[in-house]
Amino acid sequence: MQDIKQAQKAHVLVVPYPGQGHINPMLQFAKRLASKGIKPTLTPTVYMVKSMQLFDIPTQTGPPIQIRPISDGFDDGGKNQAGSTSTYLDSLNIHGPKTLAQLIKQLAEDGDPVKAVIYDGFLPWALDVGKKFGLIGVCFFTQSCTVNSVYYHVQRGLIQLPLSGQDTVSIPGAPKLQQSDLPSFVEKYGSYPFWFRVVIEQFSNIDQADWVLCNIFYDMENEVVDWMSTMWKIRTIGPTTPSHYLDKRLKDDKDYNLQLFKPNTELTKKWLDTKPTNSVIYISFGSAAILSEQQFKELSQGLKNSKRSFLWVVRESEHSKLPKGFLEETSNQGLVVSWASQLEILAHKATCCFVTHCGFNSILEALSLGVVVVGYPQYTDQGTNAKFVEDVWGVGIRAKVDEEGVVRREEVEEFIREVMEGKKRDEMMKNVSKWKKLAKEAMEEGGSSCKNIDEFVTYLGGC
Ligand code: UDP
Repeated sequence: MQDIKQAQKAHVLVVPYPGQGHINPMLQFAKRLASKGIKPTLTPTVYMVKSMQLFDIPTQTGPPIQIRPISDGFDDGGKNQAGSTSTYLDSLNIHGPKTLAQLIKQLAEDGDPVKAVIYDGFLPWALDVGKKFGLIGVCFFTQSCTVNSVYYHVQRGLIQLPLSGQDTVSIPGAPKLQQSDLPSFVEKYGSYPFWFRVVIEQFSNIDQADWVLCNIFYDMENEVVDWMSTMWKIRTIGPTTPSHYLDKRLKDDKDYNLQLFKPNTELTKKWLDTKPTNSVIYISFGSAAILSEQQFKELSQGLKNSKRSFLWVVRESEHSKLPKGFLEETSNQGLVVSWASQLEILAHKATCCFVTHCGFNSILEALSLGVVVVGYPQYTDQGTNAKFVEDVWGVGIRAKVDEEGVVRREEVEEFIREVMEGKKRDEMMKNVSKWKKLAKEAMEEGGSSCKNIDEFVTYLGGC
């Protein structure tokens, strides 16, 4: 009781990298903190706040989540205004720390001082800023511990790049990783150098962080977590999937509150409602992955040949890559939307499997809601996530690519058969049920993540 009372006084800044896959878990974590009396302030960018007209987010049982922006230097147009990702990241690294420092000062002057900065691992400068003000620094990993351990090994020179002559890479606590199981920035050293810098620099100052939080639950990667805890005060606090789908302890927490694209929720629900149980293939490549035109062609043809119902999220910016005539030809078979409420689709009884790029949030959602996965990784951490889906958690398979790196139409038809019917599906469904139960238990009272969150809250309240 005493701890919760003290915790009510703690005000924390939650600083996500401005992307959907980073905002979702950090905002969800902020909701958990608010439910325990902590006052969180989330810092999207000025552009996001203006263009999406964001306001403070009320919570059912705790203080609202305050929205206070920082700047990426592109206040009028965000990433599109920057023109390229590297320009955007350079600008964010200059303007982010300046405006974060101004915000911390301002909040103190307003009589609302901050105690801790919970920052996205992608933004290590937020830790430096927080430390200048004498604040508690908390690193939040939105990607898996294995992925982060690989990056750590590279940053400390324990894995030398480019990889030469070795078929596999070993890191403590993880299964042996083939080159194609590694994060793409490591496997294909030199691709996306600006992203490589971001993921590696996460570890430039992490030893100064007071806590390291990871959006997984312990059983998912227990040995890697144990190894990491020899270096940092690391705690698993996930999955941050909305509470409605797990422990149900946060009332009305059914969705992510901050969508960068507008979901077509009504249309997808109406369409799914007309479909039989376990009949629909759901396909999404998340908020950022860019597929080749050829890949679109093969996937479209494979889906068409399968004759199965499909619901495919194709972002506006990717739409022109759909083959001519595909939408008309498949209008009785499938539905293509530009964004959707992924959680509602995964939870719908008509959904049979999830063909995904393996963004880490999508994987956590599939585990939490109990849906079989086809891993169709594109880049960044997705190959490593696909490896875990298939070989560690056993909840899905990884689509096979040809020598050009393309998943051909025959393979699409093949993986659809594998995950939708037969013995293999039965085996995977057993694992799916097991992991769904474990995810729920981790977030319930007394579960591993729940205990860790309580420990963190008590610490914030007591210091
Ligand atoms: N998402 C969504 N609607 C869609 C596609 C994705 O709400 O149509 C959400 C999804 O539930 C997840 C996030 O967007 O929480 C994507 O994060 P992820 O880590 O899977 O991929 P990223 O976009 O970062 O590559």
